[in-house]
Amino acid sequence: MKPPVKPPLTSSGTAAAKPVAKRPGFPVRLEIDAGTPSATKKIAHRAHPERATGIFDQKMPAKAALPSGVGLDSRAVRARMVHKLAAQGISDAQVLAAMGHVERHRFVDTALVNQAYEDTSLPIGLGQTISKPNVVARMLELLRQGAGSPAGKLGRVLEIGTGCGYQAAVLGELATEVYSIERLRGLHDKARENLRAFRLANVHLLFGDGMVGYAKGAPYAAIIAAAGGEAIPTAWVEQLAVGGRLVAPMHIAGGAGGGQALVLLDKTAQGVTQTVLEAVHFVPLKSGTS
Ligand code: SAH
Repeated sequence: MKPPVKPPLTSSGTAAAKPVAKRPGFPVRLEIDAGTPSATKKIAHRAHPERATGIFDQKMPAKAALPSGVGLDSRAVRARMVHKLAAQGISDAQVLAAMGHVERHRFVDTALVNQAYEDTSLPIGLGQTISKPNVVARMLELLRQGAGSPAGKLGRVLEIGTGCGYQAAVLGELATEVYSIERLRGLHDKARENLRAFRLANVHLLFGDGMVGYAKGAPYAAIIAAAGGEAIPTAWVEQLAVGGRLVAPMHIAGGAGGGQALVLLDKTAQGVTQTVLEAVHFVPLKSGTS
């Protein structure tokens, strides 16, 4: 069992306070307004060629849809984010490719679009945040390592804390089926809207209390939580398949700063092993719905 270590791998970030001039040359304005149905249609047109052809495919038509004279398009900024993730130690090619595909800027408010590819968490409403890319990539890489077959896709995955739906979309590329639960109706609806354009038939959004998991989809090859509690709910452990892995933030008594750390649970025929990793900072896991 490794002792918790200090960040950099926390889901909170201070990058939002950086002066605008220091940000990468991401377009100041993108031709989207995630809140309108017509914009959703535009997203649908552009999301698919990119998913099909890969992040570094120069033939993608996205550039034409962006305002002229703004320099880089979102694909280039996303590729830069992916290079940065790799430099930070994320080595799983499938995770990097999925992070390169999914347009993170589609999941944040228009006012935050030019921070979408910075390594920072961002507010998504109702006091919740989208985790920083590094933390998303790290957790997904850990899940895939647990599966023991990095060449293939994960099987059924349970995500607790849909939030804006970003991580669910990335998971949709890495797993055969994704069941994602959110306890706040407003965010569940927002995620549904955000994901509609991506048409990910294997991503199932559920409104409910994720503390009890989702028994109908069990057993899960992997379980991932984006909110941290005092303990890992027993329902999650029960719903994890033998051979499966769970990754979640959890409060660690006496841990670094007395806060949360990432916890891995590996379920084998012999039992469950727990590994405590680095310190993180996620929103609290709460029971009930609202
Ligand atoms: N993965 C998300 C991150 C969302 S933040 C994204 O990509 O945007 C974590 C989310 O967990 C919040 O939206 C919060 O409402 C939700 N949450 C907290 N406790 C929960 C519970 N018991 N069941 C389901 N969702 C929960």
